[in-house]
Amino acid sequence: MKYISTRSSSERLSFESVFIKSLADDGGLFLPETDYKFNEKDFLKMQNMSYYELATEIIHKFTGDFIQKDHLHKLVKKSYSSFRSEDVVKLRQVGKFNILELFHGPTLAFKDIAMQLIGNFYEYYLSKNENFINIIVATSGDTGAAAIDAIKGKKNLNIFVLHPHNRISSVQRRIMSTVKEKNVFNIAIEGNFDDCQNLVKAMFVDQNFSKKINMSGVNSINWARIVAQTVYYFFCFFSLKSKKLNFSVPTGNFGDIYAGYLAKKMGLPIDKLIVATNQNDILHRAISKGDYTSKKVSETFSPSMDIQIASNFERLIFEIQGRNSDKTKDIMVKVKENNYKLDDTSLSKIKKDFLSEKLNEEETINEIKDVFEKHNIVLDPHTAIGYGAAKKLEQDNNCVILSTAHPSKFPEAIKNALGKNEELPKDLRKVLKEEEKFEILENSLDKVKNYILNKVNENKN
Ligand SMILES: *Cc1c(COP(=O)(O)O)cnc(C)c1O
Repeated sequence: MKYISTRSSSERLSFESVFIKSLADDGGLFLPETDYKFNEKDFLKMQNMSYYELATEIIHKFTGDFIQKDHLHKLVKKSYSSFRSEDVVKLRQVGKFNILELFHGPTLAFKDIAMQLIGNFYEYYLSKNENFINIIVATSGDTGAAAIDAIKGKKNLNIFVLHPHNRISSVQRRIMSTVKEKNVFNIAIEGNFDDCQNLVKAMFVDQNFSKKINMSGVNSINWARIVAQTVYYFFCFFSLKSKKLNFSVPTGNFGDIYAGYLAKKMGLPIDKLIVATNQNDILHRAISKGDYTSKKVSETFSPSMDIQIASNFERLIFEIQGRNSDKTKDIMVKVKENNYKLDDTSLSKIKKDFLSEKLNEEETINEIKDVFEKHNIVLDPHTAIGYGAAKKLEQDNNCVILSTAHPSKFPEAIKNALGKNEELPKDLRKVLKEEEKFEILENSLDKVKNYILNKVNENKN
C-alpha cells in the first residue's frame, strides 16, 4: 500500500516514511492511495480472532513491507502485555448502551492502545536504521502520558512533550512529570493546547530544524495511530455479534472517530459515527450547520477535548472533496484564515456517516451523576459526553459509547459531580507523591526550539 498527502497527490510514500514523518512535507496529512476493503471471507475468518490476532490482521494490511506479519504479531503482543485487561479492551452494558472501555493501558486513556504499538514500531525501525530520533508532541493531557510511557528508556530516542501550563488535570500532569528516564522532557507552555499544537507544526515545517534533530511526531495525525485504533471497532463488532452499530465517540482532534470511519470504509457495518464534543464545539457546529470557524478555547472538565483545530478533519475534507488535493489545499487556507463554511453538498456527504452533539459543563457533570445513580458506575467526563450525546440523539441499544479514559484521571470533575474521590489503580498511586520535573516556557517558537536543541546536544554528550 502506498500513501499520498491530502495536499498533493504526486508523491507516493511507503508506510515507513508515513509513520516516521507523521506530517507530509507540504503540511498535508497522509492517506492510503486507495481504500482497502475486507471481503465476506475475511470477515468470517476474523470474527473469532483474539484481539492480538485481529490487530495483526488489520494493521498488516497497512504496513506493507515495513514488517513481516509474524513479527508484527510479536510486537502487538508485547505492546499490550502491560494492559490491565486480557482482551486489551472491555465491553460493559450500562443502561441501554454498551460501553467499550479503552482505558486499561498503563496511563489510563485510549491513547495507550495506539501509542504502545508505535513505541515498539520506533524501536523496530531503529533496529534496522542507525539513527537517533527526537519525538516532539503536543498534548492536551493524555497523548503525552501515553507517548512518554511508550518511549521512556528506549534506545536512540528522546521525547519532548508540550502541554498547556495549568490546563491539564493534576493527575494527567503527574503521570508525565514524575517519569525519571533521561530521554523524557516535559515542557509546560504558557498558552492553550492549540498553541502547543501550532508550535509543533511550526517546528515540523521548519525543515532546517526538523532535519537537524531528526524530528518525528506521534500526534493523533500519525497514520499508524489511526490504523491501530480501527482494531477495537472491529473487535467490538465481533464481540457483540450485532448486525449494524453506531458509535458515539468523545471527540477532540477527530483521530479516534476517523479510525471508526476508516473501519467503515474497510467494510465494517457501522451506520452512524457520533461526534460528541464539549462546549469547544467547532466539530458539532461544522457537522450540524456547516460552521467550521474556531472560537476561543475554553477550559472544561474534559481537557482532552479542549480543542478548536481538529487536525484530522482535513482527512475527511479531502474525502468529501472527492480526494482532490487542490481543493483541499484551498480549503485549508480558508481554515487557517478562520473563514471556512461547509457548503450543502459537503454537509450532506458528511451526514451520511456522521451525527454530532455537544454537552456543556453542567450537562457533563449531570451525566456523570445520573449514570452513577442509575447504574452505579463512574464515567470519566469525556465518556460522559459520549454517553450524553447518544442520549440526546435518542440512540437505541445498537449504539456503543467509546469510553476513552479512566475516571481517576480526572479527580476534579468526579469530585464535583459525585463529591467523592475516585482512586487511581494501585500501580499508579505513586505518581501522587513523587517529585515532578517539567520546564515552563513562554509560547515562543524560538524559546522552545532553543530549549530542545540544547537538550538534544546535552544528551549526545
Ligand atoms: C484524546 C482524547 C479524546 C479525543 O480523541 P481525538 O482522537 O483527539 O478525537 C477523548 N477523550 C480522551 C480521554 C482523550 O484522551
